[in-house]
Amino acid sequence: MERQAIEIKGLTKTYAATAKTQAKRALKGVDLTIPAGSIFGLLGPNGAGKSTMINILAGLVKKTTGEVTIWGFNQDANPRQARAAIGVMPQELNMDPFFTPRAALETQAGLYGVPADERWTDEILALVGLTEQADSYARNLSGGMKRRLLLAKALVHRPAVLVLDEPTAGVDIELRNMLWANVRKLNEQGMTIILTTHYLEEAEEMCDEIAIINHGELIVRDTTAKLLGRMDGKSLVVEPATPMTPNRSAELAQTLALPEGVSMDHRPDGRLAFTYHRTKTSADTVLDAIRAAGIEIKDIASEQPGLEDVFVALTRKA
Ligand code: ADP
Ligand code: MG
Repeated sequence: MERQAIEIKGLTKTYAATAKTQAKRALKGVDLTIPAGSIFGLLGPNGAGKSTMINILAGLVKKTTGEVTIWGFNQDANPRQARAAIGVMPQELNMDPFFTPRAALETQAGLYGVPADERWTDEILALVGLTEQADSYARNLSGGMKRRLLLAKALVHRPAVLVLDEPTAGVDIELRNMLWANVRKLNEQGMTIILTTHYLEEAEEMCDEIAIINHGELIVRDTTAKLLGRMDGKSLVVEPATPMTPNRSAELAQTLALPEGVSMDHRPDGRLAFTYHRTKTSADTVLDAIRAAGIEIKDIASEQPGLEDVFVALTRKA
């Protein structure tokens, strides 16, 4: 049987009311399994419950009800082993400004009970590109370096499962590329990766499988390829030799004999977008209809739906 990195059953979390806030049901009964070895994306709009779920996995937030099993260890029955199997790079920067990266990693290793001869501090520092800063105080590190240190801290106990909560929110392209290169490398070495991100192109590129949560509920979980496949719609964007005015395209819409299921939209730049279902209609049929209407085609582009479209479609419905 396929090994599961994470098994979540009926997970709920209600944050208690405070003097200033009402009680909040952040997770409303989530079932989710994440296979070992994958790069798994947990997506959802702001406030969906992603960080709550991740912080429960990490043992930082106490669940209300449900079962959480990490690398085969039930969190209630085997809390120590469950915690040892997972490393989390949190969303917020939280670190002691008077620690050097080396000291921070050694302290973290101590917290996890990693024996001195099993520590890999120098290797981790090299992996995240902090070798030169190993002995400077954290308060002197740039924002990007601090983030790299957070990733480094998540790795000290060689967790089977690495969780990254919005690792690239607000970071520059260079750091983002470095983070992803590290994530790929760790995954190739066998680490299961779970990440949340706001950047859907990023999830599309990085993740084998994706779960989308909204308002504390799981709305979909599938392979990235299948999720994209669900969006059957495709567009051909045609640039006529003479740009289309809105009036002319309204006329055209009356006379054009488009195959069933194909729709036409006028774009502000004078191009025409023909949207069709690729499983039902071929691009050829669409083009034939355009030519038959006597439109001379100057240029043509094809647009595929991305994860963004899947996400919008699914979260809008819910
Ligand atoms: P996400 O990471 O998907 O943006 P969160 O898990 O941070 O979502 O938040 C889910 C919901 O729970 C939000 O409505 C948020 O305001 C609420 N929430 C998060 N943390 C707390 C907390 N410590 N106390 C009370 N409510 C919280
Ligand atoms: Mg969050």
